[in-house]
Amino acid sequence: MAFVAGALAAQAPAPAAPYTVLSREGRRPLPVRVVNGQEMFALDDLARLFDLGVREDALAGGLIVTARNQTIVLSIGQGLASIGGRLISLPAAPARDGRAWFVPVDFVPRALSPALGTPLDLRKPPRLVVVGDVRVPRVAGRIERVEGAARLTLDVSPATPHTVAQDGPRVVVKFDADALDPALPTSSMPDLIQAVRPGESPASLTVDLGPRFGSMRVSDLPGDRGSGRVVIDIAGQTTEGTPAPQAPPPTPDAPPLLDLAPAGSLRTIVIDAGHGGDEHGARGRDGTLEKTVTLGVARRLKASLEARLGLRVILTRDGDENVGLDERAAVANNNKADIFLSLHANASVRPSAVGAEVFYLSLEEYGDEAQKVARGESEALPVFGGGTRDIEVILWEMAQARYIEQSAALAQNVEASLRERVPMSPRALQQAPFRVLVGANMPAVLVEMGFISNPEQEKQLSSDTFQNAVVQGLVDSIIRFRDAHGAPRRSVQPGTPPGAAR
Ligand SMILES: [Zn+2]
Repeated sequence: MAFVAGALAAQAPAPAAPYTVLSREGRRPLPVRVVNGQEMFALDDLARLFDLGVREDALAGGLIVTARNQTIVLSIGQGLASIGGRLISLPAAPARDGRAWFVPVDFVPRALSPALGTPLDLRKPPRLVVVGDVRVPRVAGRIERVEGAARLTLDVSPATPHTVAQDGPRVVVKFDADALDPALPTSSMPDLIQAVRPGESPASLTVDLGPRFGSMRVSDLPGDRGSGRVVIDIAGQTTEGTPAPQAPPPTPDAPPLLDLAPAGSLRTIVIDAGHGGDEHGARGRDGTLEKTVTLGVARRLKASLEARLGLRVILTRDGDENVGLDERAAVANNNKADIFLSLHANASVRPSAVGAEVFYLSLEEYGDEAQKVARGESEALPVFGGGTRDIEVILWEMAQARYIEQSAALAQNVEASLRERVPMSPRALQQAPFRVLVGANMPAVLVEMGFISNPEQEKQLSSDTFQNAVVQGLVDSIIRFRDAHGAPRRSVQPGTPPGAAR
């Protein structure tokens, strides 16, 4: 029962929201039918839109689709298609209803696109089929408070020319594109920004300004991997009605807000060495710093996971650097991590306090909405252009909510494995509202490896033997978690059969 979100989504009954086909010729709806938990398109609809020929070859047990000069042969009863002799797999066999045949939505990019020789990009969350070289940049937004001002950050992938203009009580952001694939934030500062919503034209956004609006400043920054970043700072008015000063300008090197890359199934772990730079964390009596211990263990753990499990392992810092709490989760989100592990060492005013503690997020401080998300009651949000988007693109503060059960299971494994190798605290497994875990869009735990304030543990924490024991325990726990739950996945694939646990 650990992976309820997958099961709920898979059982969602028909009808499903249609896709929109975006081409140079315009936008056209493409209806979707859910058959046996699979989202499917009618072959007749595809034939109309893409000018295909369809006939049934009852003798051979196949469906023959002609696209331009190519022939696609679909096997009835099997999730397979052959295009000019090359076999491709589909998540399900074609389904029939009366005289109509239906194929999984993945048929479009996997079979139709190579047969037509035209790029057909199936974007599941915004429910778009992008045909050819139509420009549909992804736009992920976040609103945060910076010294009393509201900062709206938009990551745009790929970077796209745009204009930002104030028009009375709103700001219009227009992109030089055919449409947008947006993930828009909810405003937590309605006095300055009431809402960010799709604009009047298909490639624009509208920012509704709040009653306290005083002034605006726009900064354009380069982003990661060919993306761009637009930062709109909205400052309020002072009580005398004059504009308040703007927040300091944004820095160019902050990590992306959200993963803008296409979905995949990477096996990645992000290890977060707590603290760093001038944030030392806790300090032992002999001067051992928490930030040094966490980095030492993080590096060892990375080497061990890579060597033993062949996993891709990414550190949130690999040097003595300051890294913001939200940036740490952003590294994990941006790399599609399957697990986020934050390492710390504890301190107590009681020098005798001893033992490791394992934490996962407590939702209590994050309100009703987060708890609803955790219970699966607000699984998806409606978005621009119809359809829904899943939780990974709604409020930053709620990313972890959906993974609480998996995080609890991971934390139990970590606790059990560490217990075999290092001293444990009497309260070895706990829930707490740790900020660093909040934005992690995957199972996430925080490990306090021991008390640096305890002189004996201080020595241990900086020793090879103890650090290796912690690493062994963590590697074991990851193996246990993997074996008990299968490879953890970040998000629900629409192709999941009903009731399948992941
Ligand atoms: Zn710490």
